[in-house]
Amino acid sequence: MALSKRAAVVVRVKLVLLLRVCLLSGEELTWDDSGYVLYCPCMGRFGNQADHFLGSLAFAKMLNRTLAVPPWIVYRHHTPPYTNVHVPYREFFQLEVLSAYHRVVSLEDFMEVLAPKYWPPGQRRAYCFESAAQRSADKKSCPMKDGNPFGPFWDYAGVEFNESVLFGGISFSAYHKPQWMKKFPPSEHPVLALPGAPAQFPVMEEHVGLQRYVVWSEKTVKEGEEHIAALLARPYVGIHLRIGIDWQNACRLLESGDTGPHFMASPQCVGYNRQAALPLTMTMCLPDLAEIRRAVKLWVKRTAARSVYIATDSESHSKDIEKLFKGKVKVVSLQPDSAQTDLYILGQADHFIGNCVSSFSAFVKRDRDVHALPSSFFGMDTLGKVNPKEEL
Ligand code: GDP
Ligand code: MN
Repeated sequence: MALSKRAAVVVRVKLVLLLRVCLLSGEELTWDDSGYVLYCPCMGRFGNQADHFLGSLAFAKMLNRTLAVPPWIVYRHHTPPYTNVHVPYREFFQLEVLSAYHRVVSLEDFMEVLAPKYWPPGQRRAYCFESAAQRSADKKSCPMKDGNPFGPFWDYAGVEFNESVLFGGISFSAYHKPQWMKKFPPSEHPVLALPGAPAQFPVMEEHVGLQRYVVWSEKTVKEGEEHIAALLARPYVGIHLRIGIDWQNACRLLESGDTGPHFMASPQCVGYNRQAALPLTMTMCLPDLAEIRRAVKLWVKRTAARSVYIATDSESHSKDIEKLFKGKVKVVSLQPDSAQTDLYILGQADHFIGNCVSSFSAFVKRDRDVHALPSSFFGMDTLGKVNPKEEL
């Protein structure tokens, strides 16, 4: 059942791809009179940017504007070149597949092909909340390029802003669609360039399914599959250990008890409904070694796994995990240069154990849900299903 579903998705995605590649190669980029949305994925690292991307895609569709898909911002504070790297969307994922959902253009193509003629230097307006402009010296300018990663991002795109347009009293949700349409008709406001994503974090429940349009690039698949073939024997359990020092500090906020029913990516496992949300425990946020061992042992047994893949932001605990199985299960931690390698390998596992609070884990969970692959979370063993009360 799972396999045939998966096969159907693969076939569908391949068809869509074929169609799009044909269209794109035979077609020059033309200007969209319905306008564009540009934004900087200026909050957080990959997981946050991915959540924001899904919401932004939905926002662009809601306004019927083409989305200029930004590059991923990769922070390299500890390795050369020590500055942010801007990785075009296409490097990791297939841009063309997105157009099965809505019109997109890469920000790079937009700047190179369309902007010189239709959004020329000197006419570039920034759009932001009045509250954001309050931070500027004259209190009337959008802080588009103030600080990191804002400045480097727009420099990468080659954009200077000439003017600011402020707004207030509206949000990015569907509720305010009429206000957006009325305030910013594309005839007068062709390019909505925003300092941040027009989306919420974490991703809203109704946008979670857009993950199916986020499909790995051939290059990422090839690299990932090579690692899997070389290192892992199926079935394998993939685990995400989000346990580093920044995470320890974040989880400590739970102890204070004023985080409310939702904390970062937690709606994915406690349920989106705040009233019915399951309690979020410290073990779910920051599993200790005992919980890591318990969960790995359980799922290795249940899936008759022959290997375990550990993705981690710090320690892998691979020796401790190896000991659990007395050498009968191969334990692998690659600690790759690129986080996408970990994301891919976790996505392909026969079972995945993630961290409910982490948006990095959330990406993997959504990706697996698209293919009907099973996932669970540390600190709970309900197969990653939302609050059963909600399903009534
Ligand atoms: P969140 O903070 O867990 O919600 O997820 P983010 O993606 O926003 O930030 C965590 C970042 O830490 C990731 O983007 C990675 O750069 C890094 N990171 C965390 N866990 C892992 C991991 O298992 N493998 C790798 N390679 N990097 C990780
Ligand atoms: Mn983060």
